[in-house]
Amino acid sequence: MSGLNPPQQAAVAYVDGPLLVLAGAGSGKTKVITEKIAHLIHGRTFGPEQIAAITFTNKAAREMRERVGKRISRTAAEAVTVTTFHSLGLQFLQQDGKTAGLRRGFSIFDTDDQQGLIRDLLPGTPDKDAVFAAQSWISKMKNLALAPEQAQELAKSLREQQIAELYAKYQARLTAFNAVDFDDLIRLPLQVLEQDAEVRRRWQDKLRYLLVDECQDTNGAQYRMIKALSGERGLFTCVGDDDQSIYAWRGAQPENLDELGRDYPNLKVIKLEQNYRCSARILRCANAVIANNPHAHLKKLWSRHGEGAPVRVWSCKNNEHEAQRVAAEIQFLAQAHDIPYAEFAILFRGNHQSRPLEKELQLLKIPYHITGGTAFLDRGEVKDVLAWLRVIANPDDDAAFLRAIGAPKREVGATSLEKLAQMAHGAHIPLSLAAQNSSFRTALSARPAAGLAEFSRIVASLRERSKRLPAADIVRAVIEESGILAQLRVETKNEALFLRRKENLDELAQWFESERRTASGAGGLAAQLALLSNADRGEPGNQVRLMSLHSAKGLEFRTVFIVGCEQGSLPHQASLDEGTLAEERRLFYVGITRAKERLYLAHSAQIKRWGEQVNLLPSQFLDELPEADLHRDGVVRDDQSEETQARVAAHRQAILALFD
Ligand code: ATP
Ligand code: MG
Repeated sequence: MSGLNPPQQAAVAYVDGPLLVLAGAGSGKTKVITEKIAHLIHGRTFGPEQIAAITFTNKAAREMRERVGKRISRTAAEAVTVTTFHSLGLQFLQQDGKTAGLRRGFSIFDTDDQQGLIRDLLPGTPDKDAVFAAQSWISKMKNLALAPEQAQELAKSLREQQIAELYAKYQARLTAFNAVDFDDLIRLPLQVLEQDAEVRRRWQDKLRYLLVDECQDTNGAQYRMIKALSGERGLFTCVGDDDQSIYAWRGAQPENLDELGRDYPNLKVIKLEQNYRCSARILRCANAVIANNPHAHLKKLWSRHGEGAPVRVWSCKNNEHEAQRVAAEIQFLAQAHDIPYAEFAILFRGNHQSRPLEKELQLLKIPYHITGGTAFLDRGEVKDVLAWLRVIANPDDDAAFLRAIGAPKREVGATSLEKLAQMAHGAHIPLSLAAQNSSFRTALSARPAAGLAEFSRIVASLRERSKRLPAADIVRAVIEESGILAQLRVETKNEALFLRRKENLDELAQWFESERRTASGAGGLAAQLALLSNADRGEPGNQVRLMSLHSAKGLEFRTVFIVGCEQGSLPHQASLDEGTLAEERRLFYVGITRAKERLYLAHSAQIKRWGEQVNLLPSQFLDELPEADLHRDGVVRDDQSEETQARVAAHRQAILALFD
């Protein structure tokens, strides 16, 4: 423990009861968790398999496992449960799903599946907004851990009753499909834990010590999960920072930090005040900004690092100009100061803001990596293979059946599917079983009947093999035998595009291969994969990181650019309209505190929105920064623009020349 300061040491050593470490950014909260895991195992306080650490993303979980692995033996590190709430929930349901009414091989519905289901349930032909609204209502109720019956009991107004009724129908469908959605991965385990004393005791005995990172962003259901798992003993360490709560829109309840004190009167609270990440100037900027929010817990952060470079505030003409400056500066710093590309991050409020940046980075041949989103899993061909895996593992999954039967096309059109659905419904069986039934098939025309027969035959054969072969083999077999690959070849005229799509499928198969050691079959792995976002798959190389402010939580970089610091971008227009500035300010605070050495805050006078030029004012948050720590440059008014533009253009030319 020699590398830790006294309050950190105290936090690591304390195991007598519930502990909350409440501290600002970069003060070593995450470090406390990793050190504590090592300490608990070294001191034999708990066995590695009795310890569970819960992080906010799968990527954070992987990093934590690696860090722990350096401190203790590899086998011990692998025995520790390091996971996200959702992965833990999935693991729980794979073991104890029966208690929640699930059968083996259950599917996880993604957003598209969910919306398809809701569209079916809403009256008439609902538009996108209506479907989205219904989906978020259902999600809200689930994040509060409400079961459909409870939601119905609580509903007062007619509208609430309608929503609760929709929720009940939606859940009934999911149950019929032997499927869960993401929110169920928390809600169902919690329901079982709270209602079934035997299961609860078993899990409490299994996971004896809990550590939770980023506790300020837990929602109601997740908070109750911590309570249910740790029980009366309350053997946990929660770490968090109310100033970094940025997920209220997803149901996070920063009040949970206070709730802990009420639920556990013996809660010990430790505060950390030394920041080990940022230069003094960057830290002063962060402190000054966040001081404008109302505060329940006063925290002061100080740093022993030197003053560092002034924080740069850049006024740019438009977002292309902004992107040019960012790219040029990265090129300059990387060369002049020998900073690896991976030590640069460009952060933005919305993912669409990455486009001009990508263009400029490509122009200067600067390697970059975009974090976040689920772009990989959203690719058509990847979704097709996953749908096949779902049908193979779970014959009840109608949504997966409907996707798989069209991948590739087997001349089974909408009319035939509708007929099949009617027969399936009448017989109370899922679509995939109805398709297997030859007497049902004869009621259809010859071609669709033949298509369904062929489909059923391939699925049955793959299902049979999936009982003995490794998951990766099944994935490769699906890619070949389903006809997905052959169809891609026929459909994709452009050879390069075909190769790229084929690579996506290879990547998918490789992921299953890398998971060989885990015992779950292809269906179980497909479920795990559904939880991974792009950020979680593989580690990017020496590349500049582009990501949203939200995905930057918990990370650190030597140089950080926050682009789009404009009124209407950051703070976001919706938050200006709704008066929810405090959360936007926390987001800005999270962004600032990612930087170790250099921080750039850029805004544009004009941006293109929906194809139109819009004039924007600098973000009001820029006015909250201490002037003495800033270096403001080039307020580009129109009359100055030529000179500044010329300078930037010359700089850019000089860099481009290096590559010729
Ligand atoms: P955030 O709120 O952004 O999640 P955090 O409080 O979790 O930040 P860490 O990421 O754990 O902070 O630590 C920030 C940096 O400070 C890391 O690089 C970490 O290694 C370093 N650090 C933390 N504690 C110490 C210490 N006692 N001595 C030296 N370095 C430390
Ligand atoms: Mg952290």
